[in-house]
Amino acid sequence: MLYYKIGDLITLKKGHPCGENKWEILRTGVDIKLRCTGCDRQVWISRIDFEKRVRKILEGDKWVSIIHHKAEDEKTS
Ligand SMILES: [Zn+2]
Repeated sequence: MLYYKIGDLITLKKGHPCGENKWEILRTGVDIKLRCTGCDRQVWISRIDFEKRVRKILEGDKWVSIIHHKAEDEKTS
């Protein structure tokens, strides 16, 4: 969980059935708790699943692909 923190907004490979695909990270750890920003539903998914399904993360006001996010992180560390 180096690249994600509580409060981050992310998108997944598949959006929520409500039509929204923007999720807020509420908990990190072995399982990740996400909140759908469309309908407020909260779901738990395993970290392994999360890392397979996450696509983009909001950095400031820009959505960047998660691959980019990781690369930038590695550069600065
Ligand atoms: Zn929803």
